[in-house]
Amino acid sequence: MMAKSNKKLTINYQTKWSYDKAPESIDHLLLKEKYDLFINNQFVPPASGDYFETINPATGKRIATVALANSRDVDKAVNSARNALPAWQSLNPVDRAKYIFRIARLIQEREREFSVLESMDCGKPIRESKSIDIPLAAAHFFYHAGWADKLEYAFPNRKPRPLGVVGQIIPWNFPLLMAAWKIAPALAAGNTVVLKPAETTPLTALKLAELIREADLPPGVVNIITGAGDTGSDMVAHPQIDKIAFTGSTEVGKMIQSKLAGTGKRLTLELGGKGANIILEDAALDQAVEGIINGIYFNQGHVCCAGSRLFVQESVAELVIRKLKDRMETLIVGDPLDKNTDIGAINSANQLKTINRYIKTGVKEGADLYQSSCELPGGKGFWCRPSLFTQVSQSNKIVQEEIFGPVLTLQTFRTLEEVIEKANNTFYGLSAGVWTDKGAKIFKMTRELQAGVVWANTYNKFDPTAPFGGYKESGFGREGGIHGLAAYVQF
Ligand code: NAP
Ligand code: MG
Repeated sequence: MMAKSNKKLTINYQTKWSYDKAPESIDHLLLKEKYDLFINNQFVPPASGDYFETINPATGKRIATVALANSRDVDKAVNSARNALPAWQSLNPVDRAKYIFRIARLIQEREREFSVLESMDCGKPIRESKSIDIPLAAAHFFYHAGWADKLEYAFPNRKPRPLGVVGQIIPWNFPLLMAAWKIAPALAAGNTVVLKPAETTPLTALKLAELIREADLPPGVVNIITGAGDTGSDMVAHPQIDKIAFTGSTEVGKMIQSKLAGTGKRLTLELGGKGANIILEDAALDQAVEGIINGIYFNQGHVCCAGSRLFVQESVAELVIRKLKDRMETLIVGDPLDKNTDIGAINSANQLKTINRYIKTGVKEGADLYQSSCELPGGKGFWCRPSLFTQVSQSNKIVQEEIFGPVLTLQTFRTLEEVIEKANNTFYGLSAGVWTDKGAKIFKMTRELQAGVVWANTYNKFDPTAPFGGYKESGFGREGGIHGLAAYVQF
């Protein structure tokens, strides 16, 4: 059964959001009715005068209107980043570190504000924004502040230099965290930035813009422009951008790669995934079941590295399925701002449509669908029950394609060789998980699984020191660690 939220949302577009009996006071959460572009440390209206709406996916209601940047705005932002480049790249690295450190501290100080805003704009449970998205975003700035004056230690004898102006395009599943993954290493290495958040989740990036101004970063070092796919496309086409860093779908990633071919611009691509989460018979099964749940239902399954393909060794399959279904029944789908919620709102009406289409396809393909019996919140929000498909085959669409929602497929296997072959039988190569009691099996699997990240006896764990990224159609380039820093320097 779904726990009902005891909170009542009252909205005043002019000033702020507030809650009755809110467990967390968010009175200090100032929301503007209208957000402009952040260029040269100023908030400026878009050249066209056009704005679009960002909505709260849990209510379907508008939160604010946001500037729609066109090619003239992109040009303005790129010029501002270019003008800021000489001073920023020649600044004493110790001072560059201080600015980045200051941003980290400010995010930390505003953790609650950011968490609430992220959950409202995005639909993710507040528990996750508060314990994962926002602290990790701060951690990325802290970590990279540490590198800013140590680049020569990171890349000994190689004289690292910045690339120049970098254009960064990010998706809607971890809005602030993706902005941090992109901006922090770029700044540490002495680049200047133009960043475009996703259309459905621009608000925490714009809050970050306010804070960047507060941190007194020199004007033009970071520019944040909101808009739609065309805005991103204009960034890709801009001749004065030296590198594009893109996180998003494989489809758009491929388009960007072909557009940049022959231009000499650098490119890193963090794209889609269809991660295999593999449970061996000697695993601690209760822990493994928690890992399955976290692997696929974390952030409504809007996770590029989600463990969306579950493989269970035949001898324990029946038991794991029973435990998994029992655990699925306990998940609470509900108000993202309620701290008891496990699964929040699907990010947009479009994404819900896509997920439902895949669920229908799975049923048509002959797979058995199990959905938890929880009640879904009413109203105009976008909701999806945690879903599990058994009796699937390798060729099924739901096994092959990224659904990007709370939908898991389950296959069984007998031998390690069999599961490695099945796990690798995908266009993607981003992530995988292995659950076993035996170290030797972990080493075999991590060696042979074609995935950029392989977790052992855990899943969806992130850390700024650990490089993250894929291969095959999941993209190239790494974010995090020295490898991620390397993507922002030239030698
Ligand atoms: P998307 O549709 O590819 O959009 C990603 C970003 O690109 C958005 O800011 C989008 O703007 C922009 N964009 C759209 N069309 C563009 C174009 N023609 N040229 C340049 N930019 C364009 O992906 P999404 O639906 O937001 O995100 C989900 C995807 O991201 C999934 O496939 C997921 O696996 C992947 N992802 C990967 C990672 C990773 O690290 N590998 C991490 C997170 C997500 P609009 O929002 O305005 O359309
Ligand atoms: Mg939104």
